[in-house]
Amino acid sequence: MARHIFITGGVVSSLGKGLMAASLAALLQARGFKVRIRKFDPYLNVDPGTMSPYQHGEVYVTDDGAETDLDLGHYERFTGVSAHQGDNITSGRIYRDIIAKERRGDYLGATVQVIPHVTDAIKQFAQADTDDLDFVLCEIGGTVGDIESLPFIEALRQLRNELGREQTCFVHVTLVPYIAAAGELKTKPTQHSVRELTGLGIQPDVLLCRCERPLPESDRAKIALFCNVRREAVIPALDAPNIYSVPVQYHAEGLDAEVLHHFGMSTPAPVLTRWSDIVDRYQNPEGEVTIGVVGKYVGLPDAYKSLNEALVHGGMANRVKVHINWIDAEIFEREDDSEIAALLEPMHGILVPGGFGERGTEGKIASVRFARERQVPFFGICLGMQMACIEGARAAGIANASSTEFGQTDEPVVGIITEWMSKDGLQKRADGGDLGGTMRVGAYPAMLSANSHVAAIYGANQISERHRHRYEVNGAYREALEGNGLMFSGMSPDGLLPEIVERPDHPWFVGVQFHPELKSKPFDPHPLFAKFIEAAVRQARLV
Ligand code: GLN
Repeated sequence: MARHIFITGGVVSSLGKGLMAASLAALLQARGFKVRIRKFDPYLNVDPGTMSPYQHGEVYVTDDGAETDLDLGHYERFTGVSAHQGDNITSGRIYRDIIAKERRGDYLGATVQVIPHVTDAIKQFAQADTDDLDFVLCEIGGTVGDIESLPFIEALRQLRNELGREQTCFVHVTLVPYIAAAGELKTKPTQHSVRELTGLGIQPDVLLCRCERPLPESDRAKIALFCNVRREAVIPALDAPNIYSVPVQYHAEGLDAEVLHHFGMSTPAPVLTRWSDIVDRYQNPEGEVTIGVVGKYVGLPDAYKSLNEALVHGGMANRVKVHINWIDAEIFEREDDSEIAALLEPMHGILVPGGFGERGTEGKIASVRFARERQVPFFGICLGMQMACIEGARAAGIANASSTEFGQTDEPVVGIITEWMSKDGLQKRADGGDLGGTMRVGAYPAMLSANSHVAAIYGANQISERHRHRYEVNGAYREALEGNGLMFSGMSPDGLLPEIVERPDHPWFVGVQFHPELKSKPFDPHPLFAKFIEAAVRQARLV
């Protein structure tokens, strides 16, 4: 049976529980264990799909079409294990399912309550499909003490009681703040947070103490004494120079060894060369490039989390540092062409990422035009590909080219689709229906034209990539666009939905309807990002 590791957070939010879970999983994996990571989100949304990227960061999409928390992206990037719908649950989803059962009469007249109905659902979720695993790591969103997370903490308390201490390990992530005026690190917030957890019936086994200064041995001993854990179980977690050095750093502090000690297990030291190689590539680049990302949610880096990481991976593949210049597309709507040029000329590559709604789209179209005319490497992702097609149509003389996403248009180069084929058969959606869960989302195959640039990049004729969009490039404009040099080099297997466009007469111009950034890994950079950065390196030599 799989052993369970539960990860809670205390004192403040944003302590990097997700990275911690991903790093611990990577370390256990490096010791030869089979792992999977799950995330419990206590909020009442059914999934984060309808939440603003400003509020919640990016929505991470899995192969099976789940719209999940961005932490699942960390999990995949660090372990290479593909996440699925069963790896992310919210209170909203649990309540929705329970209420649906109640309405059907499934509870046979019983009173439906948080304990046992909600807690049972949480326990089932934690344990589902875990037979072939050595470890399941479950991260509980939020901070211990939040009203919302109480049913989760209670369910895990019950699980420990049922499965036993030798099958369950509680890792609590806390903060040990440095108070400049006193010149000291303070352990009291950690003590309070552990007291809060023990008050809910859970004695943590390992404490991961985030700190910006080294934790003195005396403080370590003090935390151990007051929090009732071994001194070795108090793991100092200093701020890391970059996220990919976290596994090596936590290993050096003894995290994985301590977790195994808790379970009464030991293995030879893990082989971490994969991680040290990544850190080396990241920290010792042999050149640098600057990529301009012309988007809408540029004020919040988490809104483009996977994109940011995939660009970093592309840099690692080429041993260069990638500087990302986040540019608000709306700026371009106020500027004239010469000012746009002044802003974009220093860029070695221009990327227009995914997005929703009309705001900023004319600025994105202006940046596509700049990239096309000036022969600067261009990468359009999802909405970015749609903008590349609208720009291409306008260049081909279709002045009113637009998307129906932005309102009525007589030239719908991009339009809503209400029917498409998926592996589960024909999918249908009503135009103007619910916003939640109504997109073409998840993995879909695409067929690549022989001799195309992208077929060479992928080294394949058929690919599978993850989607999340409601609109599609309209095949009726194919002839006009191809006549103007924008080739449709990837199509859905039925030949109806454009998946990739490219410009053969341009050094590097690719637009994709899917989100390749979701599948990029530090140790396996996505080929499109690796080759885009390679083109940017060539561009950097020219300018
Ligand atoms: N808004 C566009 C659509 O729904 C693009 C979505 C995206 O970029 N993820 O089709």
